[in-house]
Amino acid sequence: MMKEKLIRFMYGRYGVDQFSKFLVGAGIVCLILNLVSDGMLFYIAAFALLIYAYFRVFSKNHAKRYKENQKFLAMTAGIRGRISSFPKQMEQRKNYHIYKCPTCKQKIRIPRGKGKIEITCPKCHSKFIKRS
Ligand SMILES: [Zn+2]
Repeated sequence: MMKEKLIRFMYGRYGVDQFSKFLVGAGIVCLILNLVSDGMLFYIAAFALLIYAYFRVFSKNHAKRYKENQKFLAMTAGIRGRISSFPKQMEQRKNYHIYKCPTCKQKIRIPRGKGKIEITCPKCHSKFIKRS
């Protein structure tokens, strides 16, 4: 049976994690770059990335792979946070104006569409007039 063989083969393997997904994604990007560029650099990089991803997925050393993934997640925490909060930021930009207090440079978020309003800075309490 094919399925039994596959189950037996996969038994005890580490499987896919975020780091492997990233490696596959980076490998595919390299393959695409290879199509539009001269030389072997991206071709080799793509192969290396994909082979490394496969090696990790089928690895039986779970502790080591887990550690690698944790390291990857820690290293990319900042950029992943920025990517996931991007739609929220765009939504905010649509509904709010961000003004800077002319006195202390504090950033103040003001809802749009309220006409001319007096804003009181929450930090230094100075007042200024803006159109929202
Ligand atoms: Zn201020």
